[in-house]
Amino acid sequence: MRQMWGGSLSERRPTRVLVDMDGVLADFERGFERAWNDHFPNVPRTVAAPARGWKIIDRLVRRLGPLVKDVVHAPGFFAGLPPLPGALVGVREMRRALPDLWICTRPQVRYENCVPEKYAWVQRHLGREWTRRIVVVRDKTIVDADWLIDDDPTLARAIDARWRLVLFDAPYNRGAQGTPRMTWLTWRDVLRPVGKRTAKG
Ligand SMILES: [Mg+2]
Repeated sequence: MRQMWGGSLSERRPTRVLVDMDGVLADFERGFERAWNDHFPNVPRTVAAPARGWKIIDRLVRRLGPLVKDVVHAPGFFAGLPPLPGALVGVREMRRALPDLWICTRPQVRYENCVPEKYAWVQRHLGREWTRRIVVVRDKTIVDADWLIDDDPTLARAIDARWRLVLFDAPYNRGAQGTPRMTWLTWRDVLRPVGKRTAKG
């Protein structure tokens, strides 16, 4: 493997990457639109309006009210999310280059459908072996890694985290400055040797 993926020879282990699910692998916004139309075909949907804030559910609740949570917590919502364009090919390629790759996802507090359906989603779209690579955790800052690829720009403020954030580019996070960002077409240009684990920025 080329040096750029493995960092310096003195590193004790390979570069570890965490890849978020919603908004990075799974298309939460498109899936929500579809689910909303199924649940409430007569209620006007304004999801496409300019985003304020990044938290998708918060934005949607602000616009559409608490019915949003009925949609998100309904059986089949997370299992039925479509993959983001390029995500499945991209994450397979990334794992070939960076084998210490984990899918790191923050579950809903109401986990009953969300958690098993996230496993089902990974199995369906990536294969059963990938289900061994899932980290389900409410607080990603406690996970030790070199990189976190995530669409949540507020994670840039997680100063105690061991990883460095790479923002997965999305319309709702483009206001965030100063954090490297990537898509499934550009990740090879963004992920660079990590060097010392304590060297941030
Ligand atoms: Mg996300």
